[in-house]
Amino acid sequence: MSGIQNYSKTKKLGEGTYAVVYLGTQLSTSREVAIKEIKTEGFKDGLDMSAIREVKYLQELRHANIIELVDVFSDSRQNLNLVLEVLPSDLEKVLRDKNTFIGGVDIKRWLLMILRGVYHCHRNGILHRDLKPNNLLMDPSGNLKIADFGLARSLDQPTEKLTSNVVTRWYRAPELLFGARLYTAAVDVWAIGTIFAEMMLRTPYLPGSDDANQLAVTIQALGTPTEENWPGVSHLPLYNNLTVYPAPTRAELRRRFVAASEMALEAMEGMLIMNPSERWTCERALQSGYFLEEPIP
Ligand code: ADP
Repeated sequence: MSGIQNYSKTKKLGEGTYAVVYLGTQLSTSREVAIKEIKTEGFKDGLDMSAIREVKYLQELRHANIIELVDVFSDSRQNLNLVLEVLPSDLEKVLRDKNTFIGGVDIKRWLLMILRGVYHCHRNGILHRDLKPNNLLMDPSGNLKIADFGLARSLDQPTEKLTSNVVTRWYRAPELLFGARLYTAAVDVWAIGTIFAEMMLRTPYLPGSDDANQLAVTIQALGTPTEENWPGVSHLPLYNNLTVYPAPTRAELRRRFVAASEMALEAMEGMLIMNPSERWTCERALQSGYFLEEPIP
């Protein structure tokens, strides 16, 4: 861990929920970097050591589809600063820009890059917990890199106080909506499934307006889970008085996703299985026939 004296901050690039991001230079190498200064005021006891360890661990998780964490330092005000590679765009911006043509091969390539990056982290024992299009950064050649890995856990407590357009719940897995306290890798796969759907629709697939509505929107779109297909679900804290909706048939999914192939629909269904222990893993999704059929990325 080096110190602030090795960096200069040149200009502010943006401000997020938990951080201010600056364009900067690593003085020893003259390399241009993004410096993300994490706001600590929101945390009662500051960031805990485990968050810092996790961030340091992330520094070693090098992968083509994970943003490079170049360095970490603590500044004079004890704020945590993450030094990152500079990536000018993100999937949210690309999907919202109606002037950008997005073809089937782009969607497949991006899904492949997301799955490879997240699989690499899962294999190394790190969960993301907050995958969404604006955490998927893009370089000018359309290479997608996952950002904000590992920080989500220590930062997810204060999110409830923030407005819904800043911290989105649209990618939240049903087990979390039902109040399960346990985060598993399956939570990330669910988010990838909803992002895949969003890439095809170019609009969010399950846009709930608040936590209760998110659950309603999710079960309306994908069916209400039962003890039969998800043993134990009825004992989760927020499972009560649910309207029973049927799971969508393949014909219904074809109607919703007109351009999707059967293999694409199968992969999406696998990643959006309600029961987290039945849901596809990243490894399984990477073996999907969708990646073997034309167009090949
Ligand atoms: P949020 O995820 O809420 O957008 P962030 O704190 O991650 O907030 O980032 C705030 C802004 O800073 C982003 O919207 C983006 O414009 C910019 N930014 C973040 N990380 C980078 C990066 N690695 N390279 C270039 N710009 C970045």
